[in-house]
Order: sequence, then C-alpha cells, then structure tokens
Amino acid sequence: MIDPLEINSGPDADPPHHYPPFLTRDLVPEVRTRLATQFPEIIPTDQRKPLVSEAAFLALALQLPHGENPLEAFNSLFSLPIKQGILETHFTHWETREAWRERYRHQRKNKLLTPEAIENPQWATIAPARPVVFRFDARNRSAIDAKLSQLDAQGIHHEERVEGDRLTIRVFGHRVMLAFPKTMCPFQCTYCTLPGANDGTRGYERPADGTRRTITPNNQFHAFRKALDATKSDEIHPPVVEILNDGSWYSDQEISPETHEIILADVAKRPYVQCLAVESRPDYLDAKGVGKIKKDFDRLRPDQQLKIYIGLETTDDFVASVARKWYGWAEFEAAVEAIAQLPPEDRNRISIVSYNIMKQWCMTDRDALEESVHLVEKIDALSRRTGIPIEVKHEPTIVSKGSDQHYFFHQITPEGDRMYQNLSYFTVAELIARLHLKGLTHRIAFGQRDDIDEIETIAMVPRLGNRLLHSPLDFLVYDAVQRFQTDGNIRTFLVNIYRALKDPANHFTNEFFSWEEELYGREGSALGKLIRDYPLNTLSEDEKRQIELQQHLCDFSEILEKDTSLQRLSSEDNQVGLRESIQQRFETHATQEGYEFFKVNNVISVDITKDDVGQSHDTVPPGYQVEVIIRREGIPSSIWLFIPKTGLEKFEV
Ligand code: SF4
Repeated sequence: MIDPLEINSGPDADPPHHYPPFLTRDLVPEVRTRLATQFPEIIPTDQRKPLVSEAAFLALALQLPHGENPLEAFNSLFSLPIKQGILETHFTHWETREAWRERYRHQRKNKLLTPEAIENPQWATIAPARPVVFRFDARNRSAIDAKLSQLDAQGIHHEERVEGDRLTIRVFGHRVMLAFPKTMCPFQCTYCTLPGANDGTRGYERPADGTRRTITPNNQFHAFRKALDATKSDEIHPPVVEILNDGSWYSDQEISPETHEIILADVAKRPYVQCLAVESRPDYLDAKGVGKIKKDFDRLRPDQQLKIYIGLETTDDFVASVARKWYGWAEFEAAVEAIAQLPPEDRNRISIVSYNIMKQWCMTDRDALEESVHLVEKIDALSRRTGIPIEVKHEPTIVSKGSDQHYFFHQITPEGDRMYQNLSYFTVAELIARLHLKGLTHRIAFGQRDDIDEIETIAMVPRLGNRLLHSPLDFLVYDAVQRFQTDGNIRTFLVNIYRALKDPANHFTNEFFSWEEELYGREGSALGKLIRDYPLNTLSEDEKRQIELQQHLCDFSEILEKDTSLQRLSSEDNQVGLRESIQQRFETHATQEGYEFFKVNNVISVDITKDDVGQSHDTVPPGYQVEVIIRREGIPSSIWLFIPKTGLEKFEV
C-alpha cells in the first residue's frame, strides 16, 4: 500500500528563479533614509491606524543602529498579528504559521484526485462579467459590420460608441469560470490554497505497482469541455470564458503547449466566445512569454481577445513580501512593458487584470481600503503610459484553510478578539464609492466569494453582535457590488444597495452605521455621502420593483436559514437532501417573484470555531455554507446561506 503523502510531496515544478528570502531587505538603504527623516512622525495618535508599510520600516528598524528605542515603539504601535507575524520566533508558545500550513496541506492531500476525476473540471460556474470592448477605426466599416452581425447572430447584447475617429463596441453578458487538473503551481503565497487542488496531480494514479501517469492535454481538454457543458454555455452564450487554474498558463512546466493548442482551437470554434481569460505570474511574461502570447493569438479567431490575470495584489513591497509573492510592483511593471512590445494588431486584442487580494493577514480594513485605492491609481497611470488596457480585480479575502488568514483568524487574543477578521463587504462597496469620486471605476472588477479553495469563512456584512454570522443585508451589498461590474452605473449600484444603507423609515441601518463608525470614526464614508446626495427620491417603477425583489430575497434567505427542516438535514450531514430541498424552495420562490433559478452551486461543510486557539466572543455552531445562483435579466446573482446544525437564536445578539 502506498502512502498518498509519500507521493509527489512538495511542488511538482521548481520555481523559475532564485528569490531573496525577504524582499524588503532590499529596502534597507531607503529605510535608513526614511527613519532618519521621518521616524518621529510615524508614531500614531490614538485615532490613527498604522499602515503596514510603516510596520515594515519599524521591523527593519529593530535591526538598525538607532538612537530611539525602536522595540518599545514597535510594541506600543502595532497590533498583535503584525507583531507576531514579523517577530514570529518571539511567540514560541504558538504553533508557527509554517507548521499550521503544512498540517492543512497534508489533510487535504489525503483527498487526492482519483483516476476517474482526472477528466472532470475541478469546478465550473457563471458570474457577471465586465463588458468586452472592441476598438475599431471608424472608417473600417466592413470589420465593424462583420463583428456586429456575429454578435447579433449569437443574441449577445452590445452597444456601439463613436469617439472621434474610433468606434468601440461594448459586449455585455456573463462569464464562465472553470478549472481543470494540472501540474500544481510551485509557489506558496501565504493567502492561497489553490495549488492544494493539484498537489499530487502529476502522479495522480496510484496502482499497486506504484507507477504514476501524467495528465495529458486530452484529459484537460475533456475536463474543459465538460465545464462548458455544465454551465450550459452552448445555450446561454457567455461572451467570456475564464480558465482559472492555480498558477501560470504561460509556464510550460504547468500547462503544456499542446494543451494551449487543443483548448484554444476549441475556443476559436465557439462563435459566442469574445474573450478568453487566463492567469499567469509576471515571472513568465518576459520576452519569451510574450512570444507564447503571440502563438495564442494565432490559435484564437482574429476577432477574439485575450485577457491575462496577474496576481500583483499590492503596490506595497512589504505586503508582497509577507504574502510571499517573491515579486512586487517593479516586476509587474516590467511584464506590462514587455506585453506593450506586441505588434499593434495584437496589442489591440490584449488586456491585463491585476488581482488584488484586498486584506492580507497584516492589514486592517482601513489599510485594505487605502491600499486598494492606491493600487487602482497606480494601475491607471501605468495603463495610460503603456497604452495597454489594465483593470484591477479586487478579491475580498476569504479565510481559506491553511492560509495565513486562517492561522490568524483562529489565534484569539486574551481579550477574546480574533487576530484576523474578514473584510466587511461594506468596505468593498466603499471602494466603489471612493473610486467613483475619483472617476476610476472603469478600472475595477470584483471576484466571487469562492475564488479561492477550502473556504472556511467568507467576506460578508456581519450581523451586529456576532461577526461570524452574516447579516440579512449581506446579500444586498454583495449583489450590488457584483452587478456594478456589468455596467459601471453608479445609480444602479445605489439602487441595488439602497436597502442595506437605509431602512424603510429612511434611517441608516444599524449595520451600516456601526461599520462606518468603526472604519472612519467621525469622518464619515464616501458611501454615506453618495446615498445622502444622490437623488433617489425619484425612483422609477422599475427601480422600486428591483428594491422590493431584493428585500424579498433577503427575507426569503432569512427564512431558509431558520428553517428547522433544513437544519435537520444539515445536522444529519445530508448534503444531497439539503441541495434538493433548497433547490425546490428556490424554484417555487423564483416562479412567484419572476426570476430564474440557475443552480445550487456550493454546499460546503464548515465548523468555524473548531480550530480556535483560545476563547473568542464570536462563535457559531457547525453547519453548511450554501451558494445558490439565480438570474435576473440574464445577469447571475449569487446568494449565500448558512444552514446551521442547530438553531441560531442563542448565537444572535
Ligand atoms: S497565488 Fe498564484 S502563484 Fe501564488 S500560490 Fe496561488 S496559484 Fe500559485
């Protein structure tokens, strides 16, 4: 009998470069200068929260000759997670982050892929998409007409816009997102557990003689096609297909050229697909990588676009370093500049998206918000300079088992606080409001809640008095954010989020008020300002209906979460029964309310407080996180329910 943990342990491929152990050490000369000139100013007052980059400077200050007492300053300034994260060896009574991660990695590896699963997608779902934009010379009528008639034939919604001698066609619709088995990503970014899905994939078959087989391009192709079938793509025509495996599409060690060939040939034959999106680290996007991009363009139809997601995550090299990215802004910028060297006909077909994991373990909600605004501003400047369209896809972080967020989430301070708390979804909505005021919302998109595997808790609007339970208003905020990216219309966004901010008596809701107070103190939020100033007193009939339906969906979700028959199925771990019962209830509700039920997507068993190290104020019973996808006017919406194994009453305040 072969021990599965013996097989293929460790990364399947070596990282492509040798990286320094701690990126910020390169910053020492800059730190010296900054400390000499700025040290007194970085002592915050009670009102000010220290930014993580300042934590980096102070951490380094501990190693520098200095007249002040940096250790004392450090101790008084920074929160426990930051101190522990930076000075981990000083906290020997806790399991280290490395040991924590390994423990979860091994637990997961016990569930290695079976030979039967090798040709199945790891997951496939649909979500709202940013419009795909085609740019034409307005005089090139034949190319414009060809595109328009192709879109009309597929029933794909689009708009034309003339800007001087340019004409743009904006294509609207949804995206299909999928992943299939592959050789695992060799990196270990501290917030990410995606490679775990492929840990051992290269040696997936474990017959008695111990031989192993490698996944073939054909296996991957079959999984890819099944993902498109499972999401009814030939029926509902997604203009965007996103292949979101772990790691890098442009690393030959992870995805072979044959897989590129066979999958892109299929994408080229699907007339409804306007854009293919893939992911890659910037390490693989040098001149050689750009050559591979050119080959991909040759495989796609000439009218199809390519979008490359790059996990930049932050402009702050300290944050990049603690997240163990092994690259920072400079490497990202170099990759964009290399891509800008493509010939003009290909440059017109490419766009880049920078991921932003909004809240790394060392950040507060305010840090996450300010850094996200800063990231979009820098991306905007880079895009203008290089002429390459670049957006930022914000990923409101989830706590994923084995990640650093997970580790700090379960470390409880003597006061009963969790050392890491998920981002509030109000903070995500606030980012839209802040960027709207800067005229930069055309640069942003938002990820789904389940974009990273092994979910334990998700970013949400928490219930007052218990941060582990989502508020009934959570759906409104999540849905408003997701829908905003389809058209970028701020009025529609405010209509969608209205009931989460204002109650029927037109007062701010308690959840919003409490979030605003905690994040900004007396300063007030941009979201509050927008909803105060925006002329929503003249709602159209459609808008009123929309608000009413949103309210009904919130009420319905609340009823399901408290339904004792569902709780019984949850307590019996009857996942099939839970799925079927929730599906039936939604189908009936959809018929009554005039929307379309699409599917019950995720049914995830969670026991959130099981791994707590210490006693927290916030606690919930074990249960199931269930994601239901519905469609309204063709746009998907995702509703998350928590079905506990026992009643929630005693956990609510
Ligand atoms: S974030 Fe990307 S590069 Fe980092 S471990 Fe995850 S899949 Fe690999």
